[in-house]
Amino acid sequence: MKTIFLTMFVLYAAMVCSAGNPNPLPNPGFEDGDRMWSFGDSTSKLVHEAAHEGKSGLRVGDEEYNADPGSVTSARLPVNPGQEVTLSFWARGKNKSSGAYIYFYDSGGKVISKPQPALWPANEDGEWHQYSLKEKAPVNGTSVAVWVHFSPGNIGITDYDDFAFEGIDSGVTAIPPQASRDRVKPKEAVKDLPPRKEPAVIILKLDDLSQKNGKVHPSWQKISDFLESRKIKGSFGVVCESMQDAKPEYANWIKTRHDSGAIEFWFHGWDHASHNEGGKSLSEFDTRSYEEQKSRFDRSQKLALEKLGFAFETFGPGGGGSGQHFDANTCKVMQDDPYMKAWLYNKPIDDDGKKLQEAGKITILDRVWEVNIEGAVGVPDSKKLIAGYKSHPDRKYFVLQGHPQMWAGARFDEFVKIIDFLTEQKCVFVTPMGYVNSIKGVK
Ligand SMILES: [Zn+2]
Repeated sequence: MKTIFLTMFVLYAAMVCSAGNPNPLPNPGFEDGDRMWSFGDSTSKLVHEAAHEGKSGLRVGDEEYNADPGSVTSARLPVNPGQEVTLSFWARGKNKSSGAYIYFYDSGGKVISKPQPALWPANEDGEWHQYSLKEKAPVNGTSVAVWVHFSPGNIGITDYDDFAFEGIDSGVTAIPPQASRDRVKPKEAVKDLPPRKEPAVIILKLDDLSQKNGKVHPSWQKISDFLESRKIKGSFGVVCESMQDAKPEYANWIKTRHDSGAIEFWFHGWDHASHNEGGKSLSEFDTRSYEEQKSRFDRSQKLALEKLGFAFETFGPGGGGSGQHFDANTCKVMQDDPYMKAWLYNKPIDDDGKKLQEAGKITILDRVWEVNIEGAVGVPDSKKLIAGYKSHPDRKYFVLQGHPQMWAGARFDEFVKIIDFLTEQKCVFVTPMGYVNSIKGVK
């Protein structure tokens, strides 16, 4: 009975649709290959096995860890502000690693960031299911498309087929999507590393430790336990605002690790928050007065001395915003702060850094972009790391940045893979100040 009712409803819905504009999306089920679709990554593909109906469907994601984001976009359909559209599609996948989004565009063809409703289809039964989502075009919305995304740093395949838009005016002409990007070749495992005069020094720079509900977030416990089990030194960047109400459990957690010498805790900002300057979003130490920046250092050092019993000797500015991550005032504060000795520079050394270093107080430990734990922020990428390591055989040290709180599931395993590789290469893991002292001859 239920089935009959459902069938009647579907028939009725189909009749209503065909009275307006039955699915106006061109090539909605990929039966004409990639015509009127844009592919922006190297893993998404059209295959017969991904077809719900017909001969072809879209397969997004990978059966092994994939650090590259997936991006597939349909043609755009004209809409008017306030017009309600419904996107429906069939999908099959067990993991929530991929999602379909309704994208609205302004008259210049730019994606509007809100609203962007999304549906991440996943069902443990591994069968095809139909999904739909609905949204009204914003005031500056002139066209709509579907964007299919794979979230990088995941494992899992999702198949998509038979996309449809309802609520589109009849007689509209679809606007072709941007041409597909030149597909980057999937990264290959690297073999045959060039010899090195001596093993590289590795400084693990792990960002964004703060107190969460009076506690240490479990991801920090996990990374700390892991480093301890491998007898590897590293460094954690502390965001200091939450130290104002540091519970003994949090403060002791830091103190114990500091005292053991295994982990260096460094200053990663007071609140790591971006601020607004003339309509531009800027990171914490960008375009702020000397006094304001100095006060952020002073407040943090005072808390560290009070609650932890030591002052920070190393600084690494937080990211975010749309500008750079420090300015000339930050350099002056680094020179004036009585405790600071090292700077985990967020880029390869530049003139500001050289000038500061020449003054003799601060040592700059700079970055090599191609050699890092993460590709996209929060997404460890061993293939990128190994390729980068191979192409810099003369570099003495690497500062490798990561965000352990973003390493759920497979991402943590990928980090372990990186540590396995570096260990195999006989790399020496040190803290920032450990390295600075060794190059300055301090015992
Ligand atoms: Zn950060």
